Amino acid sequence: MPPVSAEQSDGSPEARREALKQVFAEARGCTRCPELAATRKTVVFGAGNADAELMFVGEAPGASEDEQGIPFVGRAGKLLEKLLEEIGLLRTEVFIANTLKCRPPGNRDPLPVEIENCQDYLHRQVALIQPTVICTLGNFSTKLLRGDPTGISRLHGQPEVLVLGERAVRLYPIYHPAAALYTPRMLETLREDFARLPELLALGAPEQPPPSPVQVSELAEPAPTPASAEEDQQTADQLGLF
Ligand code: URA
Repeated sequence: MPPVSAEQSDGSPEARREALKQVFAEARGCTRCPELAATRKTVVFGAGNADAELMFVGEAPGASEDEQGIPFVGRAGKLLEKLLEEIGLLRTEVFIANTLKCRPPGNRDPLPVEIENCQDYLHRQVALIQPTVICTLGNFSTKLLRGDPTGISRLHGQPEVLVLGERAVRLYPIYHPAAALYTPRMLETLREDFARLPELLALGAPEQPPPSPVQVSELAEPAPTPASAEEDQQTADQLGLF
């Protein structure tokens, strides 16, 4: 993961949100995965509150997400919204992202090389949004953020403190809502795991590691390229500037 400058990670919510828009601008032109870049309609960067306490990380955009440029707008997204409502939250209050920002053709599983290529966007999102709790939805995001192949069926519903980049977060793996769409038992489990989110959020941020010394090279940020009006609009739509 590339370093995130102290300026970015310690900035005001407004400064962090501006930096997030820059990361989005970069992702929008990404060609690290030639097949995904050639077949996607949009880069689905993420949506919601850029200063959210709670962040969700799914797998990858599907057809509806690719069409609209917004994560979790299909059937799994409707279920996610319903489960959020049941614990008194709106999707506009959280930030929702994915492991991959582009749709894999035919909704195939993300390839290891694609996850590797895309992970720095996710790490930069986490560093800038500074969530207290990251809820990983399913295997792909759980394995990526934990850096371990243990599967979701063993880990779901068990929070743990994890240092990501320079910050400690509460990681909370749960089943992917798509898996619960057709399996009532899994939906029950997902609902039970969801019900523990409020108490996890109420714990607040875990103890933070001491800040690492800032290196001169980290302070030298390249000047951002100005965005077009259309790009500004897309950014506003995706980042949900509510
Ligand atoms: N499934 C995901 O993992 N992400 C989406 O955005 C939609 C469905």
